[in-house]
Amino acid sequence: MIKGSCLCGEVKYAISGEMNDITHCHCTSCRKAHGAAFSSVSAVPIKHFHILSGEKLLKSYESSPNKRRYFCSNCGSQIYAHRDPQEHYIVRLGTLDDDPKVRPTNHIWVSLKAPWYDIEHDGKLKKFETWPDKRS
Ligand SMILES: [Zn+2]
Ligand SMILES: [Zn+2]
Repeated sequence: MIKGSCLCGEVKYAISGEMNDITHCHCTSCRKAHGAAFSSVSAVPIKHFHILSGEKLLKSYESSPNKRRYFCSNCGSQIYAHRDPQEHYIVRLGTLDDDPKVRPTNHIWVSLKAPWYDIEHDGKLKKFETWPDKRS
């Protein structure tokens, strides 16, 4: 089981079975929903996705026809999206607490990516384990 939770910790979930590939999605609705350059997602069969607590806090928004994005109404964390009648959820992997052991394989909807996000050069950016300076 791979576990995840929302920012406030009220919504907790677990994923059973093998994890599918991880995709970074740059579409406009992912960027807006997550407030980020892209969202990192993976398809999980509905029968492998288990809400452990906080289900009543989940609210959803229909971001495109028949596609609803589910989020914690207390803290705003996006947990998963579901397009009817697909039999899988698109889980928002930023909410994972465990290492899913699979790694990202692709970027999608690059045609809609944020103009300020330099997809070609990101691997060359400086990297810091925490903040870039010694703040406390
Ligand atoms: Zn929450
Ligand atoms: Zn997207």
